[in-house]
Amino acid sequence: MTPAGPRRPLVSGNWKMHHDHIEALHTMRDLGLRMKPEDVAQVDVSVHPPFTDLRTVQTLVEGESIPVALGAQHCNDHDRGAFTGEVSPQMLARLGVRYVIVGHSERRQHFGMSDELVAATLRAVLQHDMTPILCVGETEEERAAGRTETRLSSQLEAALQELDGSHVAGLVVAYEPIWAIGTGRAATAVDAEDACLFVREKVAELSGADAATSMRVQYGGSVNPENAPDLMAEPDVDGLLVGGASLDAAGFVEIIRASRPAAGRRKG
Ligand code: PEP
Repeated sequence: MTPAGPRRPLVSGNWKMHHDHIEALHTMRDLGLRMKPEDVAQVDVSVHPPFTDLRTVQTLVEGESIPVALGAQHCNDHDRGAFTGEVSPQMLARLGVRYVIVGHSERRQHFGMSDELVAATLRAVLQHDMTPILCVGETEEERAAGRTETRLSSQLEAALQELDGSHVAGLVVAYEPIWAIGTGRAATAVDAEDACLFVREKVAELSGADAATSMRVQYGGSVNPENAPDLMAEPDVDGLLVGGASLDAAGFVEIIRASRPAAGRRKG
């Protein structure tokens, strides 16, 4: 649908519930030593550690000028209040968090995060000038029944209905088929492109063509250094959301390098 244009790839590492703050320190030091200025000349990178690591990672990133943006994996949709165990978007913004994953399938599946809560969280993150990474994706059963597009449509409609086009333009949407997350069975590059293109077309319908052209769409699900180049060669795949393979600095840097437009494989 749309030429890749000026969309800058975004590679995000979701550490999930891995790496305590000491391990985070070692991983970030390793990442900082391996990353070269040319790796991030044309690619944005974010890391999303557990909440207890955020301050440690923030201090290291700032103190040692490691060229990655701080990310969070989730947050509450309120700024403060009696929500035991939760972390607010305001708290994240004060720490310098730039990207927040919203509606990851693990939050939806294991913690009952509804489409309505996803929409409220998106708005809360935007209110604090952080960029949400909105996750959408179908289950294995939905895919087998040919209902992938229906599922993506309903998730996007619920999430975006109250946002104006200018907010949507700055969003990141991560297409993450649930059957591919943590299974070692990544989508093929062609299937990832089809779904990312569908997401963009749906966003054009909901929020306008300009927003759809500017918004970045990531693919996520068993990304590794071997499959990253083919996935990133697709014109509507603007980046990667990486779980397991982001825990190791060496592999994550290979994925970042495969995502550079200068890697020369982009088809668009
Ligand atoms: C994820 O955590 O969003 C993810 C895609 O995980 P993995 O890369 O391990 O499949």
